[in-house]
Amino acid sequence: MPASGKRYHIEVTGLVQGVGFRPFVHRLAARMGLSGWVRNSGNGVEIEVEGEAAQLARFIRALPQHKPPHAVIASLQPRLIPCDFTEGFVIRPSLASPGIHRHLPLDLATCDACRRELFDPGNRRYRYPFINCTDCGPRYSILTGLPYDRANTTMARFALCDQCAQEYHDPENRRFHAEPNACPYCGPVLQYCDQDGVIAAAATKDDALQQAINALRDGRIIAVKGLGGFHLLVDARDEEAVLRLRARKHRRRKPFAIMFPDLAQVAAACEISAGETNLLTSPQAPIVLLQRRKENQAVCAAVAPNQSTLGVMLPYTPLHHLLLDALAFPLVATSGNLSDEPLCKDEAEMVAMLSGIADAYLTHNRPIANRIDDSVLFVSNSKPVMLRTARGYAPLHIELNDVISRPLIATGGQLKNTVALAAGRSLLISPHIGDLSAVAAVRAQHEMAETLCSLYAIQPEAVACDLHPDYQSTRTAEKLALPLVKVQHHEAHARSCMAEHGLRGKALAIIWDGTGYGTDNTIWGGEFLKIDSRGFQRAAHFLPFPLPGGEQTIREPRRAALGVCYTIDGDGCFADSHVIAGNFSTVELEILRQMLASRTNCPITSSVGRLFDAVASLTGLCQVSDFEGEAAMALQHAAAAATVDNTVYPFAISPLDKSGLVVDWRPMLRQVIDAVANNEPTDRIAASFHATLAQMAVAVARRTGEKVVILGGGCFQNRLLLEQTSKALQMAEFEVYSPQRLPANDGGLAAGQIMAAIQTIQGE
Ligand code: ZN
Ligand code: ZN
Ligand code: FE
Repeated sequence: MPASGKRYHIEVTGLVQGVGFRPFVHRLAARMGLSGWVRNSGNGVEIEVEGEAAQLARFIRALPQHKPPHAVIASLQPRLIPCDFTEGFVIRPSLASPGIHRHLPLDLATCDACRRELFDPGNRRYRYPFINCTDCGPRYSILTGLPYDRANTTMARFALCDQCAQEYHDPENRRFHAEPNACPYCGPVLQYCDQDGVIAAAATKDDALQQAINALRDGRIIAVKGLGGFHLLVDARDEEAVLRLRARKHRRRKPFAIMFPDLAQVAAACEISAGETNLLTSPQAPIVLLQRRKENQAVCAAVAPNQSTLGVMLPYTPLHHLLLDALAFPLVATSGNLSDEPLCKDEAEMVAMLSGIADAYLTHNRPIANRIDDSVLFVSNSKPVMLRTARGYAPLHIELNDVISRPLIATGGQLKNTVALAAGRSLLISPHIGDLSAVAAVRAQHEMAETLCSLYAIQPEAVACDLHPDYQSTRTAEKLALPLVKVQHHEAHARSCMAEHGLRGKALAIIWDGTGYGTDNTIWGGEFLKIDSRGFQRAAHFLPFPLPGGEQTIREPRRAALGVCYTIDGDGCFADSHVIAGNFSTVELEILRQMLASRTNCPITSSVGRLFDAVASLTGLCQVSDFEGEAAMALQHAAAAATVDNTVYPFAISPLDKSGLVVDWRPMLRQVIDAVANNEPTDRIAASFHATLAQMAVAVARRTGEKVVILGGGCFQNRLLLEQTSKALQMAEFEVYSPQRLPANDGGLAAGQIMAAIQTIQGE
């Protein structure tokens, strides 16, 4: 060791486990002739490195410069320590220590190198459905504990064969410490089961796969165990087969996601930008919403009835590659569950959950430890926007501005539920769980909370939840026997967006969504909130209107239209000549009239989501919806098809009173009703409605005196509304922030609840 020798202890945090970081460090140190060791720690990776000073400086610079492609370094802290003069550089066993500063390793799509081997007849893993390496393969979905080591995954039950072990221990091999490393001799195998779950006899290793391929070719519905759960697969070109799946899944019109064999077929079916291509082919390989090409018939109409977009993904596991390569046509790939229930994840649940839906099963003996759905995104202004945070993205980690004083948990909303945890400087958001109206989803939510608390070794000391007394998530929070912070729904939406952009200080939050419980016990949903570090003030809201039939209105846009027309015309809306008359039977109208007159079962709301419903109904696009958001999507797609410049409809903003400004939409809706009566084209009415909403946002923002504007709430899943409102506000010189990594919908609530609870608790 030269006299100028030094030794550093280097702590690296971020996404540095399960991405080939230790082998990279080993190779780098060995090449530079440095000695020491590297290991996974609770916080990331720890390195001790010794050698000549200039060489050490080069080593430290090279760490971030040449890191493996999927590694994300959050911090890198070298500190001088005494030399210990040992020779060589080694990878030490991982250290188990608690702490939340670590990123869980996330599931990654099959890399190019593995895909080449998969289809190389000379390779020993030729056609092996579980091929992976340090750059790809299952991670979170097979994780049973931390640190990320084979012993803490569901691969622990498979002993490595000699050849696999050699790869695993060779720092020069690309499978060095690839924790799920496996091959046909030592790893998991496929099984094909009939509809009762009985395993079919297999003559050769490829038999199970071949049987599934044959069945799919025949138009049958096959449940296939993927990374984080079962998919239901069926030929996307086969109208009869897709309708059969719809009937069995009780899903009438909600669009199905499609897995295409390759990018060329995607490009033939949909318009696809560079940003969308990058997202589709990224290691996260999510579902991306793409604009369909009208003339293309690559998938049958039943896949996504009346939709101008298609949810598209590419094969992301070796098994998907094998299936799609053989079939060479697109498949419907929808979650293996009944509508809105959690994904089925193991063989025990398989037959119980999917019998009656699947004709057969293609499964395997590598257990799924943590269920995880496919993520869903779209691209807006070349940036990805999250709709469902799941595989490849979640658990999602956000660094907080400050260290928080005690660990917290938040239980989220009722629909699109997620949970969130916070400790130290970390905020963690769980993968998408689902709609808590299903008992199984409530169970899945409890499981998720327990798993995350145990993986991160967090003991929450307080809990945050929604203000709504009837949300399952609120009940769960109340049962925890911890100090409870209830957070108003739209404040949570606002703080979720602020958290991901690291915003603090004052802002105007424009939160438009379907429903959320307000502090005055009415249903809010068209909100302009002034937010600061202490809380929020309702600066403005949309003029409230009645929803005849309450909850039922959500499924029946025509009822929202009636509530709106009643607000404008009073009893006049029951006239035979009124535009809504044709949407109800005489008996229905009489019942609704009495309901409205006596104000029974007519909650009032300021919801923009319900205004979308009303306009979709008035324009004849949707009277009774099949799934949440159907009416709003129909209106968005109509507006997107408009070719002429849209007129902005009139509206009014009432003077300030104690409850803030009121945005009076009646002049706008009056115009909508007249336009419908005059048979104006629906696309123009829809486009004007969008344009007017954007101008309403600007008009209110101007009166509040805030500079920073935050957008949030489910309405902003609508790409057109999001883009138009952002643009209008930016042109009026506001600084605009909208949700990107966290969904604008209720999937973002848990994160926002935590942020609000932090304010409350730190303020005490
Ligand atoms: Zn690979
Ligand atoms: Zn092996
Ligand atoms: Fe919401």
